[in-house]
Amino acid sequence: MVRFADGLNKYKILFEKIAKENNLIWDYCFKSNVGRYLDSDKKILTSKPINAERLQVGLHEIGHKLFRNIKPSYLQEYLCEMFSFEIMRNNNIPIKKKVKDRSKKYIAIKTQMAINRGLKKIDSKVKNYIKKDYSNTAQLKSGFIK
Ligand SMILES: [Zn+2]
Repeated sequence: MVRFADGLNKYKILFEKIAKENNLIWDYCFKSNVGRYLDSDKKILTSKPINAERLQVGLHEIGHKLFRNIKPSYLQEYLCEMFSFEIMRNNNIPIKKKVKDRSKKYIAIKTQMAINRGLKKIDSKVKNYIKKDYSNTAQLKSGFIK
């Protein structure tokens, strides 16, 4: 577990530690809560992780390095989400309901996009993750989750 001397910077310290462990460099170039992983130059573009929500997005992008060879992409996105939550749990950072909800909705949309492109069988872990909350959303109206 990481101990934080300065509570104000704990998210930034944790993000940079995990990025370093994965031989990644980072650029806090975004002002809003978004991120990108650039495989070609082993770099993460994100916003400064000033709170748990932004930390989660940054950690998700680190996950893209770890899972970059996993296809299809909806499964890779799911694994990145699980990675980010695992790091947060291991460091006693509470995961707010709004973060969990956004995550499930994001994975539901990515899964629906895969279905629209012809995906026939959804990974069972992903299905279980999204079905409770997002089986009736507009994005999932094709009704693939029974
Ligand atoms: Zn992603």
